This record gives sequence, C-alpha cells and structure tokens, in this order.
Amino acid sequence: MPRTVLVIGAGLAGARCAEALRAGGFGGRVVLVGAESIPPYERPTLSKEFLGNAREAADILLRPRAFWSEHQIELVLDTRIDAIDVAARTAISTSGKVFSWDALVLATGALARRFPRPAPRGVHVLRSLGDALALREKLRCGGRLVIVGAGFVGTEVASTATARGVDVVLVEAGPGPLGRVLGPEVSALLADRYRAHGVELRVGASVGGFLSDRAGRLRAVKLADGESVACDVALVALGAIPEPPPIPGLRAEGGVATDACGRTTIRSVYACGDLANTWRPALGARLRIEHWTNAASQGAAVARAILGREEQRDDLPYFWSDQFGLRLQYVGHAQEWATVDLDDDGDSFSAIYRSADGRPLAALLANRPGDVGALRRELVVERAAA
Ligand SMILES: Cc1cc2nc3c(=O)[nH]c(=O)nc-3n(C[C@H](O)[C@H](O)[C@H](O)COP(=O)(O)OP(=O)(O)OC[C@H]3O[C@@H](n4cnc5c(N)ncnc54)[C@H](O)[C@@H]3O)c2cc1C
Repeated sequence: MPRTVLVIGAGLAGARCAEALRAGGFGGRVVLVGAESIPPYERPTLSKEFLGNAREAADILLRPRAFWSEHQIELVLDTRIDAIDVAARTAISTSGKVFSWDALVLATGALARRFPRPAPRGVHVLRSLGDALALREKLRCGGRLVIVGAGFVGTEVASTATARGVDVVLVEAGPGPLGRVLGPEVSALLADRYRAHGVELRVGASVGGFLSDRAGRLRAVKLADGESVACDVALVALGAIPEPPPIPGLRAEGGVATDACGRTTIRSVYACGDLANTWRPALGARLRIEHWTNAASQGAAVARAILGREEQRDDLPYFWSDQFGLRLQYVGHAQEWATVDLDDDGDSFSAIYRSADGRPLAALLANRPGDVGALRRELVVERAAA
C-alpha cells in the first residue's frame, strides 16, 4: 500500500479519487494539487446556470471548503505541476515546490481548443471558472455573440445567452448542430428549435479569422467564404484536448492510455477523467470520454485500484445537456449506427440508435427522464448478449 498518493488536477476526477481513497479507509497522505485557485467545482454549470447569473462561484463547489481538511486531504491550490520525475517519484510545481509520491494520479482534464491563429480581445473560450467569469461579464451588456462550433458547449452557451437577451449567431462547419454525435435526424430537430428561439444558425460555414478595430477590439468574425459576421463577443467552442501530463513517455494526444482500472503503462501511475483513454472491455477498445459521470466514476475506480480492490468497471457511458428548455440525456455509446428510431411529440422526443441487425447501441432522450432507467437496462442486457 502506498504511503502518499499525489493527485495532480483538482477537478472532478481528482476530487472523487481523493474522496474515495479516504472513504475506502486509506490511512496515508492524500495530496490533491490543482492549478486553479478555487477548490474542486462543478464545471457543467459554467455554460448553464453560472453563465446565466443564476449561480455564483461559492454555489458551485463540489464540497464545502472545510470538507478537504476534515477528511485529511491536503488540498494545494494555485499550483501547477510542470515536471514529474518517475524514477525519483517526485513532482515539481512551477514555483519549484517538490511533492513526493508513492502513487501518482493524473487527473489534469482537458484544455479548450483554441482558434489556430491569434485572436483579438473579445474572443473567448470556455473551460474554467475564469473563462466563464470573463464571458459572463462580456454578455452583461447584451450585444451580439458569435459562437464558433455547435457542439455541446457551444449550443448550451447559445441557449443561456439567448435567454439573457443576447443576439446569438451559431456558426458550424458541419451540416448541423451536434450532428457528429447525434446524427442528422436529431440535428435537424435541434436546429429547428434553436431557430425558433431566435438563434441565427449558419451551418456548413467555417471561420477564417476575426476582424478587430484600431483599438484591437473585436468587430466581426470572418467566414472562410469572405463574409463578415458583425459581433461584440465571440466564443470559440471547438471542443477540448487532453491537458498533457508532464511525463515523458506518456503520450496525451488521444489521452493517456490506461487499463480498465485506470493504470497507465508506468507502475504506480494512474490516470482518470477527461485525460484518460480507458480500456472498455465491452467495446474491446479504448475510449476517452469528456463527461461528468465518467470523470466521477473513473476517479473512484482509480482509488479502488490503489487500495488493491480493483474491479474492472465498464459503466455504460452517460451524459446530459440542458439547452433551450430541453434536458437531453444520452445513454450508451454509438460511434456509428445503421438506423435511428425517432419518436417526437413536440414537447419531448427520443432517438434510439441501432446497429444493422436492429440492436440498440445508444439512446438520446429529450425531456423524458422517466424513460432513462428502462433504456439503460435494455442497453446493458443487449451489450451483455452481443
Ligand atoms: C462548459 C462545460 C460544460 C459541461 N457540461 C457538461 C454536461 O452538461 N454534462 C456532462 O456530462 N459533462 C459536461 N461537461 C464535461 C465535464 O465537466 C468534464 O467531463 C469533467 O469536468 C472532467 O473532469 P476532470 O476532472 O477530468 O477534468 P477537469 O474538470 O478539467 O479538471 C482538471 C483540473 O486539473 C487542473 N490541471 C491541469 N493541469 C494541471 C497541472 N499540470 N497541475 C495542476 N493542475 C492541473 C486544471 O486546472 C483543472 O482544474 C462540461 C464541461 C464544460 C467545460
């Protein structure tokens, strides 16, 4: 059993890992180091209630501030680890502080993908509380917001900003919003809904750059076909990339590869959350998932592995999104599917993604929370039978 577990990254996965170590009876030191200045908090609210002014920083903490010391978890904030020596079992922060460890957990999450070229003032990304505060402040005056990328973060911000009275233009290079994950049928349903809420949706349009005035203030987003879309604020919502761990030899492009318990290829080094590319026995493949439920359960799974109580967990992926009066809930995993069964009654809908032989692979429910349990059970049975 290790004497000191060092968890790098005080987000959801790191926090859950630290908590689960204590809950599992671990008696050694647990040190949780995070680059941000706030204790672990709920990231999903940043594009929803927090951006809509319905919550403040103090309301979004995962645990009350005193929780960490009460559970003998040494929470070290404002500290970025930028070097790890595996042989010496140390990690060194930017300011030169040295942390030693017997087991190391990498929970550094992901970074918002930025626009490939330098962008003027007024062009935002949304990943951290700091990002959300800056964007929220800019939206205070209303105006016109161009969102580049109609993925989950982009569409949720479109929903929140519209509700705040901001004019929103949503620019998507693909044929429709959320099309890659949810397919063209659901994408078309959602596109109609966004337009009905006043969003100007530009699909099949890629962004070539940004135009600013002499003072360097953003004035417009320039589309690749030369058209300029005037705006006061822009959000680049082009997804996230794993935050590379400072360990030579652990590649992070597609995430840090782990087994089903979160072990990396380096002894006593584990990875979890958005960073981890975890082996999924049921899929027979590795998968990196950027969702809340996955980060929470992987953090706990790594704690169990450290405690020697490993169980190969292979939970059915699940995520939710709140937007334009819809609670979207997605269960399962379908990268490809043959057919989609859509059932739409105007106020709510469901979409079941099926394989060529008719097996359900995944399901999306919109405002049908009561159906999630039954669908989940069906998908688990199907997966076991496959
Ligand atoms: C705006 C937004 C909305 C979302 N909405 C939803 C939703 O509705 N539903 C859903 O299922 N999921 C949602 N998600 C995804 C969900 O929040 C993430 O999957 C989850 O937060 C991942 O947790 P994590 O601990 O792996 O990473 P993170 O939460 O990113 O935490 C990683 C932490 O590590 C720190 N760190 C990084 N490098 C270092 C270093 N070198 N040293 C020290 N610290 C470091 C970072 O600063 C960060 O605090 C949303 C995400 C965002 C950004």
